[in-house]
Amino acid sequence: MQKFVRTECPAILAEKWQKWGETYAKNRERDPGFVFQWPQIEGQKLNQVLLPELQKMTRQHCSYCDGYPLRIADQTIDHFHPKSDARFYQEVCQWENLYAACRNCQCAKKEDYDEQLLRPDAPDYDFTRYFIYSFIEHTIHPNPRVSSNDQKRAEMTIKIFYLNEPGLIETRRIEFERYNSTDSTEYILDDFSFRFMLL
Ligand SMILES: [Zn+2]
Repeated sequence: MQKFVRTECPAILAEKWQKWGETYAKNRERDPGFVFQWPQIEGQKLNQVLLPELQKMTRQHCSYCDGYPLRIADQTIDHFHPKSDARFYQEVCQWENLYAACRNCQCAKKEDYDEQLLRPDAPDYDFTRYFIYSFIEHTIHPNPRVSSNDQKRAEMTIKIFYLNEPGLIETRRIEFERYNSTDSTEYILDDFSFRFMLL
């Protein structure tokens, strides 16, 4: 998970996110099977408007696994606080609750949420604070030098996003080799996946 800085809430959302959240909450309370639909803005769905803004912040990487580039099927928006959880109905269109994510991370996380889960845009988040990277196994582990609470948070984040899934481990290994065989005067870090292991 690579740190990023969240930009200002887009104007369209700042004006209406609360109203949209309240409407969604009312609909869910009235009908528990109600399915969330992104509101329409001038003939465009809100998610289509927001996705480029969200991806700009992560430089087109997945917010959670840092996979790049995001293909069409991977261009999803994750609700960090799940929209199916009554505690978070109101946040369904809240800027701070929305993250550009790949399909794999969406499928891993599903409707899971834990208060310990780390956010890549939290002011105090940094990969090296919470995690260590094994360049032999290409696996991610909690940083043993931090508090037990921070270690628990790292563990929970690895588990919920399935960051040590075998396919992902292999993809990281291949990317690391590609990085090492690239002329260091020519590379652009953002052209690689998993930037946290390259820094
Ligand atoms: Zn991902």
